[in-house]
Amino acid sequence: MDHFLYRDGQLFAEDVAVSEIAAAVGTPFYVYSSATLLRHFRLFDEALAGMPHQVCFAMKSLSNQAVLKLLGDAGAGMDVVSGGEYRRARAAGIPGDRIVFSGVGKTVEEMRLALEGGIRQVNVESEPEMEALSAVAVSLGVTVPITVRVNPDVDAKTHAKIATGKSENKFGIPISRAREVYAMAARLPGLRVIGIDVHIGSQLTDLAPFEAAYRKVAELTEILRADGHSIERLDLGGGLGIPYARSNAAPPLPSDYGALIQRTVGHLGCEIEIEPGRLISGNAGLMVSKVIYVKSGEGRDFMILDGAMNDLIRPAMYDAHHDIVPVIEPQVGVEPQPYDIVGPVCESGDTFAKQRMMPPLAAGDLVAFRSAGAYGAVMSSEYNSRPLIPEVLVQGDQFAVIRARPTFDEMIARDTIPEWL
Ligand SMILES: *Cc1c(COP(=O)(O)O)cnc(C)c1O
Repeated sequence: MDHFLYRDGQLFAEDVAVSEIAAAVGTPFYVYSSATLLRHFRLFDEALAGMPHQVCFAMKSLSNQAVLKLLGDAGAGMDVVSGGEYRRARAAGIPGDRIVFSGVGKTVEEMRLALEGGIRQVNVESEPEMEALSAVAVSLGVTVPITVRVNPDVDAKTHAKIATGKSENKFGIPISRAREVYAMAARLPGLRVIGIDVHIGSQLTDLAPFEAAYRKVAELTEILRADGHSIERLDLGGGLGIPYARSNAAPPLPSDYGALIQRTVGHLGCEIEIEPGRLISGNAGLMVSKVIYVKSGEGRDFMILDGAMNDLIRPAMYDAHHDIVPVIEPQVGVEPQPYDIVGPVCESGDTFAKQRMMPPLAAGDLVAFRSAGAYGAVMSSEYNSRPLIPEVLVQGDQFAVIRARPTFDEMIARDTIPEWL
């Protein structure tokens, strides 16, 4: 559920007409709904209410400072995957003891940053990384709480580029080797083992892979405890999927997911941590774009937009579907027609949708890409020298630009011509 609905024939973001934002900031742009972000965070928080827990927003899905502040004020922690994200979280006021550090290749500099600034726990993904972290902790004279990310060899049944829990993926250590890796962690100075971490992939629309993974984690908890390790916290990752197409079957709800967690690991008495990204931010955002031309090709019509793959790369990168809706609600009885909806970038991959049924639109009309809040703005680039598009946050009847569009001069001024040229 989200807060982007038609009212009196116009698409609204909460109580603000999308066309009003477009007039103020120009197109293309991203717009996020505060109410939707908060609602989704709270659904997870409530789903785990029966257990001690912390929901850590996977901020790689949407990392604008205003969004982090909004969620942080509501009690969210953050799952960070780089030193840059750690800095962003701290800059938005998130305390270190609510920040979890994930990622397969943390550098010594990033570890130092987190250990000096304060960290809830580091999720370690390999033995060499564990040794490096131990050395950093010892050099700073601190003890760092850690989990080890285990790879449960479970097929997440999602797109290959976002599956992370099979043995062929680069993430975590094979669960079959967990005992020796935990034994090593117990021997290394500066580390305190506190739990287990698992994250099997993204955009999962079925609970069965989670169930398989969490059952393995429960089993491992008992084994590691018998080996003398203190397993007090289970980080169960993120990955719950969202409905990208109105026509699709609805994926499981956070409440179903919470019940699954209770059922599989609830008896262990551990604090539960989860790291949802997409389900909190995905349906909380639109990308709004304008039709530049409608061009008739041979046997097909192209709707050419001012937004492109550099602004929203998911269709090009993951073959992702986004519902695309006109900002002015189509009149009843208007016959939809098939269009290839494309951007202006010089790549055939710059295609958002092929033969998509749309009401006839003309140059100047606005369209909105639904479910664009997650992995949208954060993955954008300035390819084709198209400046990063602005981000706008709506709350009730107010809206604010939370990242401005750089000017062309600003974009160009980031380059330097060496004096010998
Ligand atoms: C990407 C990621 C997440 C969030 O995944 P979503 O599908 O956005 O919920 C959580 N944890 C880790 C370690 C990740 O890499």
